[in-house]
Amino acid sequence: MSSQDNPAPQDRQEGGGPRYGPSDPLLAPRYTGMRTFARLPHVTTLEGVDLAILGVPFDTGTSYRPGPRFGPEHVRAHSTLLRPYHPILDVNVFETLSCVDAGDVAITPGNAARTTQQIADALRPVLEAGVVPVVVGGDHTIALGELRAHAAVHGPVALVLLDAHADVWDRFYGEPIFHGTPFRRAVEEGLVLPERSLLAGMRGSLYGREDLGEPAELGFQVIPHEELVALSPAEYGARVRERVGDAPAVLSFDIDVLDPAFAPGTGTPEAGGLTMREAQGYLRSLAGMRFRGFDLVEVSAPYDTPGATTGIAAANVMFELLALAAVASGRAGAA
Ligand code: MN
Ligand code: MN
Repeated sequence: MSSQDNPAPQDRQEGGGPRYGPSDPLLAPRYTGMRTFARLPHVTTLEGVDLAILGVPFDTGTSYRPGPRFGPEHVRAHSTLLRPYHPILDVNVFETLSCVDAGDVAITPGNAARTTQQIADALRPVLEAGVVPVVVGGDHTIALGELRAHAAVHGPVALVLLDAHADVWDRFYGEPIFHGTPFRRAVEEGLVLPERSLLAGMRGSLYGREDLGEPAELGFQVIPHEELVALSPAEYGARVRERVGDAPAVLSFDIDVLDPAFAPGTGTPEAGGLTMREAQGYLRSLAGMRFRGFDLVEVSAPYDTPGATTGIAAANVMFELLALAAVASGRAGAA
């Protein structure tokens, strides 16, 4: 975790008291820092923490609309209405889990390779402490850094992806680390178990027919959007459980799996996507699975509606992720 959100005293006042000032803007970009998620306390230590929200305000990997660098603050800004109790899963998230907003990971605008390693280095101690990270991006490039940390701590993981795109392309403009490539890189680096992973929600125009076969060539299973919407939540949940088995799993939610009517504020919108209600159903069908970490990516605040349609949807997706973590803790209902 970065220290710029909760800076140590930079020097001492005459007489011994601490003295505080702004962080160095050439070490940490000035748009980092935040309003906390769901009004959680901003805590950057790990003692007594079960779950930590971590912002990753990086969008150098976007290919069309930029703006996910403002995703963490946008989702935080529209999370203030969240209440603690999830009535469908019957769990009080914040009574069940000790949750904090750990602030933003230090990233490097314009340098995806360096940022990827910064994310991995920031997440690793969180995972080693047994804390469940819920990362809010940021474009999908950041998943590669997350998966490096997960693999370092748990070994290769199963990936459960909800996204309009499979993100297994090879290169964009010659760049290997981009928001359309993280899961190909993750396979190459041995970070994921493709045979235990399930990618769902893929739709939209492609560069060619060969795009359809690339996830399977890497060993992934895909449920395209047309097939996904024909599944009940229970059927989807069964497919995920069967595929993942007992492997350690990570759940990644790209907001563009939602229809642009529900999430217009995103970098690569594709018409004809999930309703928010469908997405909630599919996420709730995973209750009981123990994910080692979660992320929500690709919220582009500048393209959101004035009423923050996307920000509100994203904050509520985050709440579903927190509820899954609470149910998985086995402590739900104790409150
Ligand atoms: Mn994606
Ligand atoms: Mn996508």
